[in-house]
Amino acid sequence: MISSRLSALPKYLFASIDEAVSELREKGVDVIDFGVGDPDLPTPPHIVEEMIKAVQNPAYHHYPSYVGMPSFREAVAKWYKKVFGVHLDPEREVIALIGSKEGIAHTPLAFLDPGDISIVPDPSYPVYKNSTILADGVPYSIPLFEDNEFLPEMEKIPRDVREKAKLLFLNYPNNPTTAVADKQFLREVVEFAYEWDILICYDNPYSEIVFDGYKAPSILQVRGAKEIGIEFHSLSKTYNMTGWRIGFAVGCEKTINALGMVKTNIDSGVFEAVQRAGIKALLGPQDCVRENIRVYRERREEMLKLVETLGLEAHIPKATFYVWAKIKDGTSSIDYCKRLLEKYGIVATPGVGFGEYGEGYLRFALTRPLSRIEEAIKRIS
Ligand SMILES: *Cc1c(COP(=O)(O)O)cnc(C)c1O
Repeated sequence: MISSRLSALPKYLFASIDEAVSELREKGVDVIDFGVGDPDLPTPPHIVEEMIKAVQNPAYHHYPSYVGMPSFREAVAKWYKKVFGVHLDPEREVIALIGSKEGIAHTPLAFLDPGDISIVPDPSYPVYKNSTILADGVPYSIPLFEDNEFLPEMEKIPRDVREKAKLLFLNYPNNPTTAVADKQFLREVVEFAYEWDILICYDNPYSEIVFDGYKAPSILQVRGAKEIGIEFHSLSKTYNMTGWRIGFAVGCEKTINALGMVKTNIDSGVFEAVQRAGIKALLGPQDCVRENIRVYRERREEMLKLVETLGLEAHIPKATFYVWAKIKDGTSSIDYCKRLLEKYGIVATPGVGFGEYGEGYLRFALTRPLSRIEEAIKRIS
């Protein structure tokens, strides 16, 4: 009865792990969950207060504008100028999203015809591949190898794939590998995109979760990128707002219009009270972001100790709130996670869930308090 599109989606791999977690919890085991990429810290109070005020204003109780309130899009443009030094026309080059996942998932519908290719890194956020399949497109995986610092080797993409490709998904700072990309790499990618006429979908939700003086770029900092790229941002990670569903995409007028056309036929925009809160987040005091980073940095140190205690190997992440750890004894990532759960009551995400080249790795999220990471280390040692 269901469509071939739905049947073509990859199988959900973690059912057996989910089951084991619920069983342990039922038995009263105190499970420590490093699986979820959802900040445990609350949304900063000044943003919540703005929402409370806005929700009491009947002006915001109606259908929102499809593309986002002018004041929200202006706030995005100001934020972009301040953070990346990139100029955007708020009226034409910015669109509000119901979380960036929504915009990413709708992008293939705007740009792919049946059989067109999306180039998708492996491992990666599963939405790139799955939204391509839902649009009757064909995902083409490019492996990310540790030896290449988890950057794709564009020169290895075959010519016939380049010719049929319409989209290229990229995400740095990267979930799950925590890798970062420098401007030289971004310049090469933009050149590649021009040569083969491929739209770069640059997913950048972790640009502000950065450590030790590292500053993450926007692809729009590369000359000419706006005409060949669309960049997705989210307030979810930066401001602990995953539940609010607000993000945005930026790019040239033609690209933003195409995505907007899909959206006007599917959704009706972001609740305007949430947009008011979003404006507050983007333009209000930013010490909450610095405080977040301080907390994640502290947890990062402890998580690296945990990883070492397990005999796993990890690079020190320059960005994101994950640690990507390599399994050294040849155990599969799913078996390793099961063992971790059964022996110690600890949950991590098996790397294979992000693609076949994620096999051999585990992802630990830094979204649990320091005391829980310490407790996990105590259980292991
Ligand atoms: C969290 C995340 C998103 C989506 O965030 P939203 O809450 O939908 O804005 C997109 N891409 C990656 C890689 C993420 O980790």
